[in-house]
Amino acid sequence: MPTPRLEINLDKIYHNTHELVTRLSERGICVTGVTKAALGSAEIANTLLRAGVVSLGDSRIENIKTMRLAKGALLKNATMVLIRSPMLSQVKDVVNYADISLNTEIRVIKQLSIEACKQRREHRIILMVELGDLREGIMPEDVVATVHEIIDLPNISLEGIGTNLACRSGVAPDVNNMAALSKLSDLIEATFGLTLNTVSGGNSANIQWALNDNEIHSTHINNLRLGEAILLGCEPLQRQAIDGLHTDAFTLVAEVIESKPKPSKPTGQIEQSAFGQTSPFVDRGIVNQAILAIGIQDIDVDGLRPKLGIKILGASSDHLIVESSERELSVGDEVTFQLNYSALLRATTSPFVSTVFIST
Ligand SMILES: *Cc1c(COP(=O)(O)O)cnc(C)c1O
Repeated sequence: MPTPRLEINLDKIYHNTHELVTRLSERGICVTGVTKAALGSAEIANTLLRAGVVSLGDSRIENIKTMRLAKGALLKNATMVLIRSPMLSQVKDVVNYADISLNTEIRVIKQLSIEACKQRREHRIILMVELGDLREGIMPEDVVATVHEIIDLPNISLEGIGTNLACRSGVAPDVNNMAALSKLSDLIEATFGLTLNTVSGGNSANIQWALNDNEIHSTHINNLRLGEAILLGCEPLQRQAIDGLHTDAFTLVAEVIESKPKPSKPTGQIEQSAFGQTSPFVDRGIVNQAILAIGIQDIDVDGLRPKLGIKILGASSDHLIVESSERELSVGDEVTFQLNYSALLRATTSPFVSTVFIST
């Protein structure tokens, strides 16, 4: 098999998705499966759809296009959501390939309307509201005025509202901010005499709020956009594994290209390394050092978790240096790692990392 490679277990991804879809549906919440860490993989996208997500969400229109044009009726007919505010320069593709987009700028929405008219399509908008995390979103006090501007735009329909917490500042979704979003949906419905299909409460950081909060949810939140929880089986606030989900659907495999006993402490005067960091070196005598043919171009080193007995010592663009405490590794040996979301994103995006689908 090619190395480096990402081994992807679709059965585990199916299981995670199906579990979350089932548990959340008991709370009246449907799931948008977020595929941005999968770089438009049709296999993963199809797995999410088969497991019951109502739509696929991606932050890059390029990924949505890839999924839309992939073989199979499931993807062709799937509801695709662009979860990052569209670039003005991309509205044509957005209208062409996405059914729904998350928006915060009236200028962009007007442009989507013009483009939707041109293409004789309907484009749906989820208006994102700022509720404390200070990433995307219009201020709550501007919601009514903005809806007023959207509502009569030709070929645009207001699908709903949403918010995104935790990603930038770590603000946790809780009873208060979720109630605030819910109240805004009430306000819009009452002011404009319409029904919002979607009130999208957030991302994987909402899992605890959605599943653990014992009081019956009295909010109208009926959608979450989930990536990390599905793919890695963990929630991002404390990075805890979610009960009953697989955390090892992805495994990174890299190959040893050099293996030699070497001193643990460099010799000479220490200045900056290739990527600026100089970590303090402790002299631990001679260690079993090995170099793997993968580097910062392909993975976020801080997001790799090696097996017991292997320790990551450092990395440069194309080299990952590890220490093996048990046995000396041999050239050609394969070393495996679990990945966090950041390492996964980078690995799927690297053209040097192959993807291999395995089953349990
Ligand atoms: C990335 C993203 C998500 C999914 O986040 P996860 O933490 O992977 O669940 C949801 N919504 C938006 C707007 C995003 O950018």
